[in-house]
Amino acid sequence: MRVDVVTIFPGMVEPVLAQSLLGKARERGLIDVQVHDLRRWADPPQRQVDDYSYGGGPGMLMKPEPIVRAVEELRTADSWTVLLSPQARPLTQPGVRRLAERPHLILVCGRYEGVDDRVRDLVVDEEVSIGDYVVAGGEVPALVLIEATSRLIPGVVGCDDSVRDESHAAGLLEYPQYTRPEEFRGRRVPATLLSGDHGRVADWRRAQALRRTLDRRPDLLSERGLTDAQRLLLAEFDLDGPDTANEARP
Ligand code: SAM
Repeated sequence: MRVDVVTIFPGMVEPVLAQSLLGKARERGLIDVQVHDLRRWADPPQRQVDDYSYGGGPGMLMKPEPIVRAVEELRTADSWTVLLSPQARPLTQPGVRRLAERPHLILVCGRYEGVDDRVRDLVVDEEVSIGDYVVAGGEVPALVLIEATSRLIPGVVGCDDSVRDESHAAGLLEYPQYTRPEEFRGRRVPATLLSGDHGRVADWRRAQALRRTLDRRPDLLSERGLTDAQRLLLAEFDLDGPDTANEARP
């Protein structure tokens, strides 16, 4: 997978890409991310990337020419150009999966009041929002998108199972997890997890994932509701009442 990020603040993006799983994935050649300074495509000598908004209004707008030139130079037949924008439907895990299948993403980061709208028609294939709120620029949203998609590339996350089981992978939230010590401030790790019975642990985790999703994000289940088997599973672990994990929270 190749990703090109077009931004007026490359220095905001580069250091994050060098860290942790992403940094390792880049070193190992699992993902190739290049960050480009948009000003490279702006007219010299000022290299201005913004201008006033026709019709008036507060703030500046990103000019169309540098962005369109950048995308036209970077794109190939396989490219998919994404404009980070709070005006799109918020990104979800199925959306991340779809984007992760693209061999080449070009991510365009807006700033100021956003971009001249003609950019959308001319070079953008899709707009992506990270949520129904506004941040100052597209750089952090681009990093969110890169982290979320790169985790789905085989080999990026050490154990592929952890990607398969986690929240939103199968429309559920992940089950609660615990590490040592067995008892902490009077709260014990659930006995099933200490039992060594792998089948029972797997059933407990499935039940807990259901319970947690029902309590916190019932909207994720609303379309299909619970099956009879799922209801039985909840009853088996006495989880057809309220979420027990909530008791640990203040
Ligand atoms: N005036 C714009 C509006 O009301 O739609 C918001 C502009 S915002 C301050 C500047 C840039 O930040 C946007 O062009 C976009 O690239 C990025 N941005 C802000 N919020 C975002 C979000 N929720 N998701 C993705 N990108 C976002």
